[in-house]
Amino acid sequence: MTSSEELHKRRLAVVAKGVGSTISAYVDHAGGGTLTDVDGREWIDFASGIAVTNVGNAAPRVVEAVRAQVERFTHTCFMVAPYESYVAVCEQLVDLTPGSFEKRAALFNSGAEAVENAVKIARHATGRQAVVVFDHAYHGRTNLTMALTAKNMPYKHRFGPFAPEVYRAPMSYPLRDGGLDGAEAARRAIDVIEKQVGASNVAAVLIEPIQGEGGFVVPAPGFLPAIAAWASETGAVFIADEIQTGFCRTGQWFASEHEGLEPDLITTAKGMGGGLPIAAVVGRAELMDAVHAGGLGGTYGGNPVACAAALAAIETMRELDLDAAARHIESILTTALSEIAGTDDGIAEVRGRGAMIAIELVKPGTIEPDAARTAAVSKACHEAGLLTLTCGTYGNVLRFLPPLVIPDEQLRRGLDLLTTALRDN
Ligand SMILES: *Cc1c(COP(=O)(O)O)cnc(C)c1O
Repeated sequence: MTSSEELHKRRLAVVAKGVGSTISAYVDHAGGGTLTDVDGREWIDFASGIAVTNVGNAAPRVVEAVRAQVERFTHTCFMVAPYESYVAVCEQLVDLTPGSFEKRAALFNSGAEAVENAVKIARHATGRQAVVVFDHAYHGRTNLTMALTAKNMPYKHRFGPFAPEVYRAPMSYPLRDGGLDGAEAARRAIDVIEKQVGASNVAAVLIEPIQGEGGFVVPAPGFLPAIAAWASETGAVFIADEIQTGFCRTGQWFASEHEGLEPDLITTAKGMGGGLPIAAVVGRAELMDAVHAGGLGGTYGGNPVACAAALAAIETMRELDLDAAARHIESILTTALSEIAGTDDGIAEVRGRGAMIAIELVKPGTIEPDAARTAAVSKACHEAGLLTLTCGTYGNVLRFLPPLVIPDEQLRRGLDLLTTALRDN
């Protein structure tokens, strides 16, 4: 078999440098909690391909459903010749998402595409243009979603000009906003929106219930309900970007449920397809159906193979009770990490929900971000065979996103490797 080293050489000759990789090993196969590289080395997976393989890699039901579908047909384009599985995925979305109102759904290929479409729908339905997003937000890499994303490097640098009518409000970030509670942080954000944008101009308020790339920032309790209530009072569409938090990741089907939110629209992708590319916008029927026929779509959106995978992934989440599995992972991770944090002054906070947990690293005795140590710990994890990711505006957050089916033994082995990496760096 070709080694990682040889593959890397071939890559350098043909793959654009702008496309990076966290590790230099090339994958041969992967399962419910590990990846095996082409050199035969096993990695503990605390990344899930960025919160995608919630049901595990090559999950049995997903493999079976994909195999059966590719034998029947691979593509017709739902806009040309429709098929059942697209409708069945929308039935599942309408059923599983929070909100006791009548809903509709539409399928797309990627998270960024779902966010773009949610904004299109909100603008069309309200006749307004402004979109409010938050500090540290991440919503994708297309032109509109780059504008919605907060962080310059690496996402936006020299890629402008960006789409207009995007406004940024302060986020609730308990570690870093001087002890504001949820209501106070919401008042601060709403004040910015009202003064700088004007309530009657706002088409949509778009927010991740727990920020992903921005650092697994969990807003103070009450922040999200207050923002949602303001949107409802002023006629703005409240959009929850659940692309990273959705599909059991946080211990509920959707993270909005932790605070009883019923977003007007929800965007989903990542965990939805068991590893195949599929995304969706789901929400209030009167908003979704405001758009004229033919106004939404795309060649591949809701591709039949991806729909088959999504249905199988959702069935797996139900049958294996992956909400409960995520809460079980949360208890193991937070217990172990809190114990480490108790003896490590460089860990400012252990936070997150379910199997979406992070630690934020700082210079001891301060809240000054320690990106250098974060990079060193991360590198040590990779050398030891633990696949972890970093995130955060300041590059000082280590995040843990294991597959929800990871066996306890592998989870604990990963924690041991992480403990050693933190101790040595
Ligand atoms: C990953 C992500 C996106 C973008 O999804 P892509 O499929 O990479 O386009 C948007 N929003 C959030 C919260 C994400 O985590």
